[in-house]
Amino acid sequence: MISFAFGCVYKRGQFMSIGNSVYIFILIAASLIAAVISVIVWRRRRSEQAVPFLVIFICISYWSLMQALMFISNKFIIKLTFANLRYFAIEIVPIAFFALAYEYKNKGRSLSLRKWIILLIFPFVCLVALWSDPYTHLFYSRVYLIDNQLKLASGPGFWIDYVYLQLFMIYGIILFIITYLHSYSIYRKQARMIAISAFIPNATNLAFNLDLLPFKINDVTPITFFVSGILLFYAIFQYKLFDIVPVARDNLIESMNDMVIVLDNRNRVLDLNLRARELTKRWNNAREPKSFIGMGISDVFTDWKELVEILEADTGKIPDNKRITYSFNGVTKYFHISLKGIFDKKKYKNGRLIVLRDITTLEEALNEAKRAKDAAEYANRAKGYFLANMSHEIRTPMNAIIGISDILYSDKLDSDTQKEYIRMITESAQSLLLIINNILDYSKIEVGKMVIENVNMNLKQLVSDAVRSFIISSDKPDLNISCNIGQGVPDYIIGDPVRLGQILINIVGNAVKFTERGSITVDINEINRENKTSVLEISVTDTGIGIPQDQVGRMFESFSQLDGSITRKYGGTGLGLAIVKNLVQLMNGEISVESESGKGSRFICKIPFDLPDPKALISDNNEKVQSSQSFEAISKLRILVAEDNRTNQELIKIYLKKAGCRFEFADNGSIALEMLDVNDYDIVLMDVQMPVQDGLEATARIREKEKDTGGHIPIIALTAGAMEADIEKCLEAGMDRHISKPVKASNLYSVLEEYGKLSIR
Ligand code: ADP
Repeated sequence: MISFAFGCVYKRGQFMSIGNSVYIFILIAASLIAAVISVIVWRRRRSEQAVPFLVIFICISYWSLMQALMFISNKFIIKLTFANLRYFAIEIVPIAFFALAYEYKNKGRSLSLRKWIILLIFPFVCLVALWSDPYTHLFYSRVYLIDNQLKLASGPGFWIDYVYLQLFMIYGIILFIITYLHSYSIYRKQARMIAISAFIPNATNLAFNLDLLPFKINDVTPITFFVSGILLFYAIFQYKLFDIVPVARDNLIESMNDMVIVLDNRNRVLDLNLRARELTKRWNNAREPKSFIGMGISDVFTDWKELVEILEADTGKIPDNKRITYSFNGVTKYFHISLKGIFDKKKYKNGRLIVLRDITTLEEALNEAKRAKDAAEYANRAKGYFLANMSHEIRTPMNAIIGISDILYSDKLDSDTQKEYIRMITESAQSLLLIINNILDYSKIEVGKMVIENVNMNLKQLVSDAVRSFIISSDKPDLNISCNIGQGVPDYIIGDPVRLGQILINIVGNAVKFTERGSITVDINEINRENKTSVLEISVTDTGIGIPQDQVGRMFESFSQLDGSITRKYGGTGLGLAIVKNLVQLMNGEISVESESGKGSRFICKIPFDLPDPKALISDNNEKVQSSQSFEAISKLRILVAEDNRTNQELIKIYLKKAGCRFEFADNGSIALEMLDVNDYDIVLMDVQMPVQDGLEATARIREKEKDTGGHIPIIALTAGAMEADIEKCLEAGMDRHISKPVKASNLYSVLEEYGKLSIR
């Protein structure tokens, strides 16, 4: 090629002018460079943008060569032929360039064959006009030779074609500029380089064709293509233009779940991958991510002080396992940070690469595992303590039972001492029984065999019984135990009296155990009533030793006692509250505790209960049970007891005598009616099954009479029938209350006390 060019320059024993020779050399060099680039691009043709690039460079190589041949040749017709041959390339380059820009902008989506064909229709028409120009003169207005140089005066066809092709070039350049402004890292540099190398020849070409150049020269468009060729050649190696690897690497970094941040030496953000952009955008109230480029880290990561501090203080010694946290909208995220310096070939540090890996899931799993391990260890320790404790709890009453029995058996003792010893044995046996019952209950709950009964029960009675038993047995003179029943709390509910009693006794028992002085208050309130369901809040408040905050959560765990020293002082097995919690849950309720160490505790149970038919229920207002129990209200009563059974009469006699009230017995209903006619009674205790006239009939008669005489004497059923139907029958007959046999003294007293107080008022 070079010798061919030399041959052409040295024409007919004459050298061409220096300027023309240089021009031809440059044209041939441009053609060669474009050919070499074409070969390189061809070898990398699998890369996304390779095809339009290949087309462009083949065209440039061909164009430059045709231009050189046109210039070298002597004959007018040969010159014109080469000039026209150039147009096969000139028509294709702008459209191939536009296709390249389109692919860049749309991340690799290429133009369809159909679109290519549509775009090429017009250039094809122009080529036809060009080659038929000698006959039509559509393309050139005049074609002539001056100083052996071909002059082509542009005609209308030329200008139309020129404008069409320029539109594609300019639009392509604009697309590259947009890509440059909107992309990151390697794409950005590529787009910039291509935009520049397309702009230079195009601008020169425009200036040449519009006669804007200040001096007269040959058409320099191919020369500027030569410059562009050099630039692109450089770009191929410098920015790995066609290398799939950097593009793939770029894609990989973009799609990573880790945050990748590139900083310069002055801690300004140079690049953020997609994840980093997304998170930074979210944390910065959706500010556009591209605006972070060039900003200082403290402005970009405003709320992430920990990260900024690490980056600002980085001495290259950040440990590999460094973990940092970020809290956003109440959610804490954990990141693993790694920092690496970016060095150039001369080992000069240009900036840093920061990778933040989100390890929140891993961290939470580790925390969970740690919590589970701690809980397992705690449970293991608690079971150990439990066994040791249980052995102690069983041995203590056993020791008393065996020791005292031995003394009773072998020693001669007076009857008072014997009585005292028997009382001690009974007490120890009862505490043993309690432990055994607890263990049985616990194992029943564990295997899911605990069944909650649903029967009609007198709530108020149950509560006052439970509380009263503590008042009577309490040996703490400075402790006041009371009970408040809120307005609207139903007298009767459907529930399991045994289990509800057990819950109360456990909680109140603990309160008594852990409170030396002050007060224990049992409050019952209705917090919701819907249809036939009443949600009751039963709370027990004490002024005892309280529970440290960090231990409150563990209270309801089985075998859990909060402090070894407390256990030794107060005893207990650690099963009570675990059973209580399970019972409450089996009743579809919930239990919680509020407590402060040294000040006292409040246990709150919220349990829903169904209500029985609310016939003839007497609503009771606040009841206060004082620890110093008195029969004052009862003693003022005159009571008629309708009861046929002698033994039962004896028992009731003992109870009523103890309360100090006046009473008479009637052996059946009809005697009771007669006695009511002649005497003035405050209350009637009525058995149901009696000879001659039963309690139901007698009650009905009494109520019948009262319709004429006025008044309403309270009639309380004392009966062995404890079923719901029995209670209903009594209420239907006109009785006011129901006490089931075996009659407990406390039950009887609490009902009588109520009426006693009413009659005093
Ligand atoms: P225990 O039979 O040991 O009393 P519980 O399950 O009933 O077992 O109670 C567990 C632990 O909870 C008790 O050992 C005690 O440390 C604490 N506790 C329970 N109730 C109270 C309370 N009212 N005041 C202070 N601590 C309490």
